[in-house]
Amino acid sequence: VNHVVVVGAGLAGVRTVEALRGRGFTGRITLLGEERHRPYDRPPLSKAVLKGEADTSFVDTDLHVMEVDFRPGVSAKSLRAGVVETTEGELRYDGLVIATGAEPIRLPGDGHQHVLRTLDDAHELRAVLVPGARVVVIGAGWIGAEVATAARRADCAVTVVESAATPLATAVGTGIGARTLPWYDGIDLRLGTMVESVDEGGVRLVGGEFVEAHVVVTGIGVRPAIEWLAGADIDLHNGVVTDEHLRASLPGTVAVGDCAAWWSRRWRTRLRVEHWDTALNAPEVAAATLLGEEAVYDPVPYFWSEQFGHMLQYAGHHPAGERLVYRGEPEGKWSAVWLTEGDTLAAVLAVDRPRDLVQGRRIIEAGHRLDVERLVDPQVSLRDC
Ligand code: FAD
Repeated sequence: VNHVVVVGAGLAGVRTVEALRGRGFTGRITLLGEERHRPYDRPPLSKAVLKGEADTSFVDTDLHVMEVDFRPGVSAKSLRAGVVETTEGELRYDGLVIATGAEPIRLPGDGHQHVLRTLDDAHELRAVLVPGARVVVIGAGWIGAEVATAARRADCAVTVVESAATPLATAVGTGIGARTLPWYDGIDLRLGTMVESVDEGGVRLVGGEFVEAHVVVTGIGVRPAIEWLAGADIDLHNGVVTDEHLRASLPGTVAVGDCAAWWSRRWRTRLRVEHWDTALNAPEVAAATLLGEEAVYDPVPYFWSEQFGHMLQYAGHHPAGERLVYRGEPEGKWSAVWLTEGDTLAAVLAVDRPRDLVQGRRIIEAGHRLDVERLVDPQVSLRDC
């Protein structure tokens, strides 16, 4: 491999560059980034940046020292074998890294809707979260809950509209979601409510009601940013399809981060995980694969969320679990664990219980059985169950 083109200058893209250089690759690297910023971390955007505690979250890396030809503001428009068509002409490659991440889904309507994906989005939103502002957040998932946290803290009048029966329902189910309901104190939380459109001055609900708003934030999820690959000879299905080595179907190509749907040996299914830990760690495997080395990406997926003063941490893959067991009461610090038929651990969600997360992740990796009677006692540490 002489020339690697990395498309997407987010965390997964820049980490792949670092991994390539770390493995001794001395050839040319071109890094294309649609945004004009150098690579930055997104988790702080809905936390420190939105709260005004930080203005940026740049990744601590030196593209110059790594001799990378970084092209900010340049997008890939299409792909054919060996050639990326960009907004600034054609680029030939012999190794390709697809790291284009994901993009927010928007709702119909002519009204202005904020989304929160980029640093620019975060600054735009922060400027309008002022005391007394009427803010409607659409979606009570991870992003919606974090935005609602920041908006309430900024003394806005906050309404959260969610189509499911509880917050976080799509992500972790309504049982866990119901435990977070008291956190929405002081927020007008409308559950089981669908938005029809975002119009001038507010939000039109299905059924006709109009909810007035100065600020509307849509947080209903993202989709993999793979439109530019539509005409390419590459397998796409809910992202760029890869094997366990993160190799895509087009020769000389790997995919990493939010846009990659990789085969997991551990869970015997294809996973696409839109979380920071994947963008951080998958690149090491992708770089090895691109350089012809043998490496497999098969993590116990991990993520966290900070909302309403609580730290939520998740590890595992709960669709592999049959039974949900709680450790601790909803008012205090608690965890939820998903068990398989054979009483091994499929996933853990820890609320203000970081030890359960750390121990749970190790237990999932080891794959040993748990004693359910001990498990329900939050005083017994997970590793002793
Ligand atoms: P991205 O970060 O999306 O980077 C992809 C880059 O590619 C983008 O800069 C994009 O502009 C560029 N690009 C797209 N298309 C093209 C193209 N055609 N040509 C050139 N460039 C292109 N995860 C957690 O685990 N915990 C959290 O608390 C958490 N909080 C988050 C808060 C927010 C507000 C957001 C948005 C995400 C959060 N995440 C969190 C998720 C985490 O940030 C993502 O999983 C991670 O950013 C994925 O990295 P990536 O490099 O794959 O994609």
